[in-house]
Amino acid sequence: MVSQQNAQTNAADSALAAASCQQENAGEEVCPIKVLVINSGSSSLKYQLVDMATETVITKGICERVGADDSFHKHGIDADERVISVYLPNHYEAVKAVLEVLTDAQIGDIESLEEIAAIGHRVVHGGEYFSASALITDEVLQLIQRCSPLAPLHNPAALAGIRACRELMPDKLQVAAFDTAFHQTMPAKAYMYPLPYELFVRHRIRRYGFHGTSHRYIAERAAALLQKPLIDLKLITCHLGNGCSVAAIDHGFSVDTSMGFTPLEGLMMGTRCGSIDPAIVTYLVEELDMSAQEVSDLMNKQSGLLGISGLSNDLRDIRAATEAGNERAALAYEMYSHSVKKYIGSYVFALGGVDAVVLTAGVGENCDRMRRMIFQGLESLGIFVDQKLNSERGFERVISEERSQVKIIVIPTNEELMIARDTAYIYAQVSAEVC
Ligand code: AMP
Repeated sequence: MVSQQNAQTNAADSALAAASCQQENAGEEVCPIKVLVINSGSSSLKYQLVDMATETVITKGICERVGADDSFHKHGIDADERVISVYLPNHYEAVKAVLEVLTDAQIGDIESLEEIAAIGHRVVHGGEYFSASALITDEVLQLIQRCSPLAPLHNPAALAGIRACRELMPDKLQVAAFDTAFHQTMPAKAYMYPLPYELFVRHRIRRYGFHGTSHRYIAERAAALLQKPLIDLKLITCHLGNGCSVAAIDHGFSVDTSMGFTPLEGLMMGTRCGSIDPAIVTYLVEELDMSAQEVSDLMNKQSGLLGISGLSNDLRDIRAATEAGNERAALAYEMYSHSVKKYIGSYVFALGGVDAVVLTAGVGENCDRMRRMIFQGLESLGIFVDQKLNSERGFERVISEERSQVKIIVIPTNEELMIARDTAYIYAQVSAEVC
């Protein structure tokens, strides 16, 4: 077992090593192998088979309602997608079903599992143990298990997916990519909460941050788009989907982020409240007699866009209702943009300036109106959105005017590709060591 102190030191060392290694390797040739990327949720298992020679998706799919009687499996891209009704009582059976479809004589995409060189798994919480993606060993599995209380819905599911792959493909190299890893470079002034210090020492209560793989990907792509090394840039990256987070990235290193000990903190989200006065929690318990579970459900599942509008957690519905004159929907819309604006503003000061703000995920990539509202009224700070570029869709682009001192960039995120890249990178390192 790795001691807490050792784990912390290792985390700090490998954070620097990983970040510099990732920067050094950005743009270099990748190992031309096929990687299976797996994202195991509590009742689902998503996958992509990625050809690293071209960095293209060969096929993808999702097993849904794993553990329920009406589970099913969707496999294939766009028009080729087919839905297979199959009973999937657990993640082991789901992985088995995926491997059978991938190698099926009629509809499969590969002749045999031999074609898959390695498997990359998304793992939500790596605590302070992991500051970069890691080769999965028995010790790594134990550490992921140790982080389970911090992500009780996600880490056990990831472990189930990893164990299933280990059983079904014992000879394959497996890698874990952590949502928290990228943010392990935050300084103590950003990750500590102003609570009694013992809570940090004894219970590791601190900011961890999430969506790290997405923040890392869009930061790298933004640097490529600006034709500048990441190490020369100050960026604010905004992952605005159903879950939302903002990160301050200084010379390639995450130095602050809005999500915290859990993915509940920070921005207003689809159903999550984000940051609120913590005394509201004690008030709900003492005055409204709510249990801990009820308060948790209220803040995670009944708040955010849904809680304010009373209609939906989906910004498309909120936008339509706003246009139809619904006042609560309009309020939810305004609160959401205000929340993003405040975080961007505070990170500009924390970073001491910013070269570009980068937006991604469902809302960040697709909602021109929200993007316009977020940057409205900032002209005196030298920020100008080009409304024509803002109204376009679906590809990486700068959407600020030429004269804008701060560039605004839209990048479709690709966490699976990032996981596949890390997996191929570790595969190449291990193969070189073996040779
Ligand atoms: P994600 O979690 O990244 O899949 O993002 C999901 C959210 O993106 C949805 O709940 C919607 O609120 C939002 N979204 C997706 N497409 C659009 C769109 N065209 N306009 C506004 N919001 C969108």
